Amino acid sequence: MNHTRRNFLKFAGLTAAGLCVASVGGVMAAGPGSTIKDGEKALKAKRWGMVIDSKRLGTKEAIEPLVKACHAVHNVPDIPGKQNVKWIWAAGFEESFDQPNNYMDEGLEKRQFALLCNHCTEAPCVRVCPTKATYKRPDGIVAMDYHRCIGCRYCMAGCPFGARSFNFMEPRLHLDAAKLNKEFPTRMRGVVEKCNFCVERLALGKMPACVEASQGAIVFGDLSDPASEVRKVLREHYTIRRKPALGTEPGVYYII
Ligand code: SF4
Repeated sequence: MNHTRRNFLKFAGLTAAGLCVASVGGVMAAGPGSTIKDGEKALKAKRWGMVIDSKRLGTKEAIEPLVKACHAVHNVPDIPGKQNVKWIWAAGFEESFDQPNNYMDEGLEKRQFALLCNHCTEAPCVRVCPTKATYKRPDGIVAMDYHRCIGCRYCMAGCPFGARSFNFMEPRLHLDAAKLNKEFPTRMRGVVEKCNFCVERLALGKMPACVEASQGAIVFGDLSDPASEVRKVLREHYTIRRKPALGTEPGVYYII
């Protein structure tokens, strides 16, 4: 798709819904593929990663503020039922870690886990995307350029973690215009979306929305820096990752 055509489609899609993408302090929040630019206060890392304390975030009620914060800043449509769109959500142990155990500790069996894209080092979604709409940034974040997505859903088939959602419905019809974050783009029907580790916030020097909402129960930082807080937490706590045997090398860890 050439630039002229892509720009036209972007403009037509946004204006049809009466929504505009805003430029914030030199940072365009639209398609991170080519437009996110670091501001002066940008947070940087060689490999961003996250540790979630599931003991503190172990119920749906505890996870709900994270979901609300994330979905609000990213204009995630609120669609009930099977066609829902999610960037972060709550799930039980077996669904989260694929490790059935009939004799598990009851507390752990009943615990809920905050799930999101793992920003895998060896991300199958990146390998299968035919248009490079999903791509790996040098800092380890698996980002998306929504304008490049053709809705083939190969990435959804490739992701073993169910971290991606497809907009079967027109998402803009399921957004509250009064609560819209005009600094982040809305998507169109037929586009896939997922957690982006808040690349647009990192570019402005802010932590991810879920980290802020977690009141210290999620630590986010540079996995490649032994002196970082995230590495300290990983040294001091036993953690697990989702489906490590698949070899995708998830960047999200769970204290259990
Ligand atoms: Fe891709 Fe899924 Fe890994 Fe996220 S969790 S990087 S969507 S394979």
